[in-house]
Amino acid sequence: MPTKYIFVTGGVISSLGKGLAAASIGALLESRGFKVTLQKFDPYINVDAGTMNPFQHGEVYVTDDGAETDLDLGYYERFTNTRTSKDHNITTGKIYHSVIMKERKGYYLGKTVQVIPHITDEIKEAILKISHGVDVVIGEIGGTVGDIESQPFLEAIRQFKADVGPENVIYIHLTLVPYIKAADELKTKPTQHSVKALREIGIQPDIILCRTDRFLPDSIKKKIALYCNVDEKAVITAKDVEYIYDVPLVFHREGLEEIILKLLKLSSPREPDLSDWERIIHTLHSPKFEVTIGIVGKYVNLQDSYKSLNEALIHGGIANQARVHLEWIEAEEIEKKGPDLYLSHIDGILVPGGFGERGIEGKIKAVQYAREHKVPYLGLCLGLQCAVIEFARNVCGLTQANSSEFAQKDLDPVIDLIPEQKKVTDKGGTMRLGAYPCKIESDSLAHKAYGKLEISERHRHRYEVNNQFLDLLKSKGLVVSGVWPDGNLVEIIELRDHPWFLATQFHPEFKSKPRDPHPLFRDFIAAAIKHKTLL
Ligand code: GLN
Repeated sequence: MPTKYIFVTGGVISSLGKGLAAASIGALLESRGFKVTLQKFDPYINVDAGTMNPFQHGEVYVTDDGAETDLDLGYYERFTNTRTSKDHNITTGKIYHSVIMKERKGYYLGKTVQVIPHITDEIKEAILKISHGVDVVIGEIGGTVGDIESQPFLEAIRQFKADVGPENVIYIHLTLVPYIKAADELKTKPTQHSVKALREIGIQPDIILCRTDRFLPDSIKKKIALYCNVDEKAVITAKDVEYIYDVPLVFHREGLEEIILKLLKLSSPREPDLSDWERIIHTLHSPKFEVTIGIVGKYVNLQDSYKSLNEALIHGGIANQARVHLEWIEAEEIEKKGPDLYLSHIDGILVPGGFGERGIEGKIKAVQYAREHKVPYLGLCLGLQCAVIEFARNVCGLTQANSSEFAQKDLDPVIDLIPEQKKVTDKGGTMRLGAYPCKIESDSLAHKAYGKLEISERHRHRYEVNNQFLDLLKSKGLVVSGVWPDGNLVEIIELRDHPWFLATQFHPEFKSKPRDPHPLFRDFIAAAIKHKTLL
């Protein structure tokens, strides 16, 4: 069977949930027994998302191969079994970069290098590159139809249909159908305009996903079908949901995968099995427990910058039949007013990853509170570094303990760059990125959680625990329960005389899934539930 392609575009406004829609389509096709993969095209000129401000762009999602990608790839991995890589996130910058490199090498034999065909060919090649061994590729085009930036991508997917055969490609367009209160009406005009814009560039959508706050009545579906030239069954209500994990179920009830299979002439290997998603939704709606986790961070106003973390905590709740309330606490507030005010009602404290000095002292204070008051603590990346600094200062008596990222230059930092990195950094800086193996100490909290002694987790950081201080830290009771053997670097720390205190140099949140909650988040939430019931 040839590989089939579904391209998802968006219209009217951004933030309609295209990534979530694409991921949910992936989940539905997997539930029918197909092997899928997903790919995101971002029209911006940055080569990757690594340098982008989290305020503007949300989280940088890190793949196994160390690519710093768009947060939609996180949705893809959470909703499906696909493993994404650098090839699954293509930006305008990446495409132009590679075309320009080829041009410099003389690859185009003196031809004038143009958007059509050279840029569009490069985009189509990128699609084919990830197509091997999968039944269906779902390609999501970032931005909204009509943007100047996304045009080469739209042109490429338009051509792609002719290249691989019309029976192997469908286009799904996500639009908004707003309810206008004054008129007491759902409005289809924005959808009509958006589809018109798509058709002007030669793409006729096969399916229209209509984001709305209510189910579309048949009359509205009929109208959209007529004006947009699609089958009435291909007009799907993408209704707002309370929990994102409901989206595959809502789409399924609307008959979405049925119509996809029909249009792509795919016969399903099996009946859909959505029991996992139903179980998740059931737990989210009627949990046995409730806990409050305090996240002490810096970007607390923009939770999109911690998307995977939020989800991983929810997953930890699902594993424990618990509803997890997330309380975002601005680290600088703790710095100013002390931790009691913000943390005394909290069942588990988490310091997430982060960059830069702002709020560091507040985070360290939060760690101290967790350690001394025996509140379950999970530290991630910067959260480990803060925990080590706190321990060095308040347990080992190294009053000046600090990190070289934000320290006085003349002191030996407890958190430092490793020598190799120092050398490279002179030439422009580098980070430890992507998956690294980690060896786990037996009989540790980490061992209990993972149930094995060798794991692999994803990294995105520059600094490490300075091994020079290890003996001292250990002699005072810090447990190093995970190391990267090749680099001899600390990966996990724990405290014994505490109900649950663990921090990781890596980012476990990137690998947590609702159907397969990450063991560290599962055990952290379990400890928080226990803490709450003991109070
Ligand atoms: N800023 C720290 C470092 O670069 C932590 C990074 C992070 O938390 N992802 O090591």
